[in-house]
Amino acid sequence: MKTLFDKHTNKSATVLNTIAHMPTHSLPVLLDSDFTLGLTDSDFMRIAVLLAQKSYDEGGCPIGAVIIDNKTRKIVGKGHNTLIQEDHPYNHGETSAMRDAGRIDFSRTSLFTSLSPCDVCATLLYMRGVSRVVVGDVTNASGNEALLRDKGIQVDILEDQQGISLYSNFRQEKPDQDIEDWQGVSALSNHNSSLKSDSLESDQA
Ligand SMILES: [Zn+2]
Repeated sequence: MKTLFDKHTNKSATVLNTIAHMPTHSLPVLLDSDFTLGLTDSDFMRIAVLLAQKSYDEGGCPIGAVIIDNKTRKIVGKGHNTLIQEDHPYNHGETSAMRDAGRIDFSRTSLFTSLSPCDVCATLLYMRGVSRVVVGDVTNASGNEALLRDKGIQVDILEDQQGISLYSNFRQEKPDQDIEDWQGVSALSNHNSSLKSDSLESDQA
């Protein structure tokens, strides 16, 4: 069967966005192997950022991830943060993509994430033996790259400027949602009460 995207297809934003939105198990209908082999690391990072954008458009946290097979470069899992969409306290871009990939051998895969991994995701990445992690934003958050390298994972930084501005706008727009996603609701109440006491102190000053 002829696929829609082949080696002649231009890797435009629309084409990459279609890949981001299409369910992973349906991708073979859309992409042939020549097209897939022509996708660069930056293209996979663009897809991760387009998934972050999808989450943002749904009112959620803009973080997305894509997992590829190292040999065939086929996408085997992808997803985005669902804190808001699923009322889910810890489903991040990375965990979402890993759940989509299912019970596979992650040592044959690379994971592209639009934002530097949190402690939970970093732990899962080395416990499941992902061979390579590519990080699209170490400007808005960073810290676990050294830990992942210590655990024997190849870590590459490939910053995506659109992803960086998307996340920094989100953080300014919805600071509470950002804190809740990283540290939970308890951190949010501590943060808000410390803000309140700061403003009381400055009122008294
Ligand atoms: Zn995480």
